Amino acid sequence: MRDEILTYWEMCAREKGSLQRGMYFRQPPAVSVVLMSRRRGAPYEDSLSEDGTVLIYEGHDVKREPGMDPKSVDQPWALPSGEPTENARFARAAGAVGANRTLVRVYEKLRSGIWSDKGLFELVGYEYGDVGRRKVFKFRMRLSDAPDEIVQWGEVEEFKRVIPAWVKQAVYKRDKGRCVLCGTQDQLHFDHELPFSKGGTGLAPENVRILCARHNLQKGAKIE
Ligand SMILES: [Zn+2]
Repeated sequence: MRDEILTYWEMCAREKGSLQRGMYFRQPPAVSVVLMSRRRGAPYEDSLSEDGTVLIYEGHDVKREPGMDPKSVDQPWALPSGEPTENARFARAAGAVGANRTLVRVYEKLRSGIWSDKGLFELVGYEYGDVGRRKVFKFRMRLSDAPDEIVQWGEVEEFKRVIPAWVKQAVYKRDKGRCVLCGTQDQLHFDHELPFSKGGTGLAPENVRILCARHNLQKGAKIE
């Protein structure tokens, strides 16, 4: 909840992961997370309007390497592997509206190990412009009017509908990449055994299975 104060571990428990980095893009409707700091000596220049509704969040630098100052080079779009950075993932998602809009939970560091929940923001835009002699991302976020309580993954219908990657991986392995009814390996879908409209969740592998397109359609017909 907005302005709640949390220890680092409470924050990690809430986000179901150890938050080592400052930016976590999550595909909507999941909620992304950013960590910010306005303390003296903070690594990035984040600024929050006095009323707490407009956040300008700075993107992140390249990883530090021996003999190189990350503050001397452009903030990166891609990792050495070619994968997009979190900067790039947020930038690509900026400006999406409606169901595809990116909601971001913002936490601010108050002091070592103590954080404050600044609320749920909407990513509305970004710039990639010159700051000094290099290029820096500035993400613009606005306090969202979405109900604060929808943020917890798994609590709301909209979220239950989503089958997260870890569930898909477990189900794919268990079902050996085949339709559980006929064994085909073509045109496969992840199916909620108990439909989410009847209270089934995509967050438990036990309720998810692999079906081919034909069996998936037959099941749909039976329900209607
Ligand atoms: Zn089948």
